[in-house]
Amino acid sequence: MLQRQEQGLTAAEGAMPIPIDSRKKPATVKVHVTSGAGVDITWSDGHASHYDFAYLREECPCATCNDERIRKSAMASAGPASAAALPMFKPKARAQAATTVGNYAIQITFTDGHATGIFSYDHLRSICPCPDCAKAFRAAGG
Ligand SMILES: [Zn+2]
Ligand SMILES: [Zn+2]
Repeated sequence: MLQRQEQGLTAAEGAMPIPIDSRKKPATVKVHVTSGAGVDITWSDGHASHYDFAYLREECPCATCNDERIRKSAMASAGPASAAALPMFKPKARAQAATTVGNYAIQITFTDGHATGIFSYDHLRSICPCPDCAKAFRAAGG
């Protein structure tokens, strides 16, 4: 006797389909590696973003840089003096090479040898440094 048994469907974690959001879909992507001018992206909704390589180095989304940022902000909240007392000189990072990853991200190799940062267009749109986006994101925080 056949009995239909419901398979315990576990939600496929992390396998969410990528939403097609025109704001996060680039129409044109230009990575100016040789001139060092940075990255220019025009989005499907017409918005244009420009990113310096140094800025992208700062905003690198990889685990190492994430940890570093968390440590830094923990240090800063421990006391402003300790953070200010670190006169670390860092030369401005530039890109040595850049490749596209599938159709969803750019991978940048920086002149300081760091190459694990994969910048998804989703992430890039959310860190757009233009005044309009900065306003939009800060407004959300209250
Ligand atoms: Zn990184
Ligand atoms: Zn913007």
